[in-house]
This record gives sequence, C-alpha cells and structure tokens, in this order.
Amino acid sequence: MIKKIVKDVNLEGKRVLMRVDFNVPMKNGVIQDDTRITAALPTIQYVLDQKPRYLILMSHLGDPKKDVQKAKEKAEKDGKPFDEKAYIEGKHKMKPVAEHLSKLLGRPVKLAPAAIGPEVKAMVESLKEGEILMLENTRFHKQETSKDASEREEMAKELASYADIFVNDAFGTAHRAHASTETVAKFLPTVAGFLMEKELAYLSKAIQDPLKPYVAIIGGAKISGKIDVIQNLMNKVDSLLIGGAMMFTFYKAQGLEVGKSMVEEDKIDLAKKILDDARVKNIKLLLPVDCVVADQFDNSAKTKIVKANAIPADYIGMDIGPETIKIYTDEILKAKTVVWNGPMGVFEMSNFAKGTMAIAQALAEATKKGATTIVGGGDSASAITQAGLEKSVSHVSTGGGASLEFLEGKVLPGVAVINEK
Ligand code: ADP
Ligand code: MG
Repeated sequence: MIKKIVKDVNLEGKRVLMRVDFNVPMKNGVIQDDTRITAALPTIQYVLDQKPRYLILMSHLGDPKKDVQKAKEKAEKDGKPFDEKAYIEGKHKMKPVAEHLSKLLGRPVKLAPAAIGPEVKAMVESLKEGEILMLENTRFHKQETSKDASEREEMAKELASYADIFVNDAFGTAHRAHASTETVAKFLPTVAGFLMEKELAYLSKAIQDPLKPYVAIIGGAKISGKIDVIQNLMNKVDSLLIGGAMMFTFYKAQGLEVGKSMVEEDKIDLAKKILDDARVKNIKLLLPVDCVVADQFDNSAKTKIVKANAIPADYIGMDIGPETIKIYTDEILKAKTVVWNGPMGVFEMSNFAKGTMAIAQALAEATKKGATTIVGGGDSASAITQAGLEKSVSHVSTGGGASLEFLEGKVLPGVAVINEK
C-alpha cells in the first residue's frame, strides 16, 4: 500500500475531518439498509480511540436535485400531490443517519444544520474534547458537485478550516471529484481509512499484480457500460467469461440468431473486435454454449434451455444455461485470482437467477481453495448477498461505479489525492 492510512499518522489531540459514504437507501426518514454505516465503523472507532480533539463526519445522501425531479415527475404522472419539503426531509436529511450511528457507537453524535456556513462554523468551534459532529448532506450545497473548480474550492476551504487532517474512507464516491472527496484534500494532509485501504489493496492487486491463472467474469446488461473494463482486463487475464445480456451482442457478432434477446445493434462491430483481439492476444474468451430463454420478460414466462445456435425467434435470452454453468465453474475453480462484475442473467427474477447464483457459488468454492475472489458492481454485490455468500468471497466492493472505474484502469480522483507514504 503506497497510500498513507489512519495508522500512519498521529491523531491525538487533532481536529479530524472524515469523509464517509453514508449514502444509505432511505424511505420516509427510515434507513433501509445500514451496511454502509457499519462498514465505516472500524475507522471511526479507531480514530476515536486515538483521542482526537474532535471528529467531524461528512457524507452525501442521495442526489437531492435529481431525486426531487424524478419524484415530482412520478407524482405528476400518477396524479398524486407532491410535498417537496417532506420528501427531502425523509430522503436526504442526515438526522436518521446521525441517530443510527450514535446508537451503534453508544455515544452522542451531534448534527450540524448544513455542511458549511457561519452556523456550522460556530458549532465546530464550540465542540468539546472527543465530541463527534456530523455535517448535513454535502450535496445540499451546489459547490459540492460543481464543475467549476473554484466553486468547489470555496466549499473545500471552509471544510478544511474545521480540521488539521482529512481522512477519506469513502471509496464509493472516490470516482467523483467533488468538494468533500477530492478538493478538500488539497488543503489538508490526507490519509485513507480502513475501508478505503481494503478496497485499494484488493482492487490494486487484481489490476497490478494478480496471481495466475486469472479469470474474469463479465456480465450485466450492456457491453457499452463494460467495454472499458473488458478492454483493460483483457491485457491481464488468462480467461474472460461472458454472460448477462451482453452475450447476445457477442452471439450476433458471430452471426448467430438471438430471437428477442436484448442486443446493442451499434455494438456488434465492437463485439467482433473484442473477439478478434482475444484471438490475437491468445486470451481464452468464453461465450455461453447454452442459455435459458423465455417467451416473455417475466418470472412466470414459459422457458426452455437451448444451445447457443438454437434460440427460437420469438424467445428472449434470460440466463446462461446448465452446460455453461459447468464450463464456467470448472474455469473458476482453476483460478488463483477471480474478478466478477455483472450478473449472468436477469437474477432479480428467481427463475432466471440460477446462472448468477452458480457463479456466486463457484467464487465461494474457489475462495475455499485459496483463490483471491473479488466482486465489483452494484448489482453483482446484491447478487452475492442474495446468494448469502458475501462473507465467502475475499472481497465485495462497496463502490459500484468506483470499482468499475478502478477495473477500467482509471485513476480515481478521490484516491489520487491521498498522500503517499
Ligand atoms: P453491475 O451493477 O453489477 O455492474 P449491471 O448493472 O451491468 O451490473 O447489470 C445488471 C443488470 O443486468 C441486472 O438488472 C440484470 O437483470 C440485467 N441482465 C442480466 N442478464 C440479462 C438479460 N439476459 N437480459 C436482460 N437483462 C439482463
Ligand atoms: Mg448496475
């Protein structure tokens, strides 16, 4: 690890500012899933144990502007009244998060009325020895996400004025150059928290120095969203296993018929190029040899298992088939490093979740045999949880978009600004 972490600095008596990813799903002021909060506890607890002068926590929570617009449009469509203030109160305010954290820590967590401004400044100045203050949702301030660096700096400077050191533990938002993730680091010494450290350790190893054989499984909805991941990983892996809806664009590229399956017509040439590249680079690129098809995009649809070259014209491809599961599982069990991004089928419907669940199982088995196994991507992370195997793999990334960009080989702005050892 070349980046400094909380353990590399002395925090005693220091004013500590920490960016966490407390962007939890919220409904009417009730937290639906507190995974992201519990995931930050080790760093928070460690910082508190160092006897800092105080600890200030900050996070975004949803995207107020976008979320309001969406909810408004939906209410209009449904002919229902829309109370913007109540909606924001229940969806974007940090109060439930601060209360929940206080319960988990067994000590008070104060809540600021904003992230910046004179009231917050006064509150920060009045903090007593060892107190915890949570700032209000950083995205209530337009400077947070501003494209204009000087606007972001305005907010970042104010945030930095609260502290002597900045701890970034928000891997999930590290791919965004926002005031509270990236810009603030320009004005304070910056170190990573344990969650950030763990993400970087696993993902960097997979990108820079993986043990071989190295197998990547890529699935999900669209090639277009995964093309950079595929291209970057192609230079590193021994085999690449394809699943999900993108398999049908690959089938098309091979001249196969795919019925009513999801295809990205404008990506067929790209799929051809990937197949050619794999041949040239001598990478084993595997496509499913069979698939589960359905007569409707519905869990109760009539289904069949067919070979890749026998998809009926009026059927939709929904999952990889049993023979493919066997081939992919064998390949995964031979690996020393496995990276999985993207479900193999429409796993939200139980009848089309078998392929995805089988891959989750294969990763768990490979882990038992000593392989390093990494799951990245929001839907893939829910799939492994749905399989009950999130503890049976080496690492499930908490950052959907961030882990994808990392696997694409990009430098994440929130990571770049962390000081090196
Ligand atoms: P991740 O979030 O893990 O990166 P993606 O967002 O790329 O994954 O893809 C997940 C979505 O892909 C799921 O909603 C799943 O239903 C969809 N999907 C997988 N296979 C198919 C398919 N054959 N047809 C349509 N959608 C599919
Ligand atoms: Mg997704």
